[in-house]
Amino acid sequence: MADKNAKRGSLIVISGFSGVGKGTVVKRLVSDFGYNLSTSATTRAPREGEVNGREYYFMEKAEFENLIDYGGFIEWTQYVENYYGTPKKYVEESLEEGRDIILEIEVMGALNVKKQFPDALLIFISAPSIRELKNRLSGRGTESEETILKRLRKATEEAEDMDKYDYVIVNDDLEECINTVDSVIRSYSCRRENQMEYIAGIKEELADIDKL
Ligand code: 5GP
Repeated sequence: MADKNAKRGSLIVISGFSGVGKGTVVKRLVSDFGYNLSTSATTRAPREGEVNGREYYFMEKAEFENLIDYGGFIEWTQYVENYYGTPKKYVEESLEEGRDIILEIEVMGALNVKKQFPDALLIFISAPSIRELKNRLSGRGTESEETILKRLRKATEEAEDMDKYDYVIVNDDLEECINTVDSVIRSYSCRRENQMEYIAGIKEELADIDKL
């Protein structure tokens, strides 16, 4: 098909409460479905098993602030005393090349992205209930009771903005949740407004059928 029918990639933003399993969902979207994921930068220390350039670009505060001044982020935020930001270059290149890209970021960042990219698809991954979320956080066994409460309080803030998301997907059964997110992304890329360039290309071809 002619190149003129090519379309820009979609920007997909995934957020969700801490402990809801969004990290697992996103990892599986990458490994099982080949989605393209943006790697954020952060000033927080790497956790065990995390690799620089894979989970995050781990940076010193000064380096991060330099990048802010330089305009290197699409969005950035301060979350629990650390900076987190989405580097601009990779996202812009992916969209330009027609590849969809997923950002796994918190709510303020997501709403910030939506302001700059009104076509971005916002997906919020939630838990069946807050009681269930608390059980999952306790079940990890890695967090103190105080940290769990901190995260649940954060969830209270995040819930305020849940209704600004395009889709709210409940992670009850992991496999079902992954498949639902994938379906939502696929359907989204077929929406009329995301197919305008394609439609224009088809019409152009039809206007010249003698030359095909
Ligand atoms: P964690 O420290 O647990 O890896 O991440 C803490 C929170 O920061 C999560 O909600 C995660 O989605 C969010 N986050 C990760 N990268 C970014 C980013 O680039 N921008 C924003 N706004 N949030 C991010």
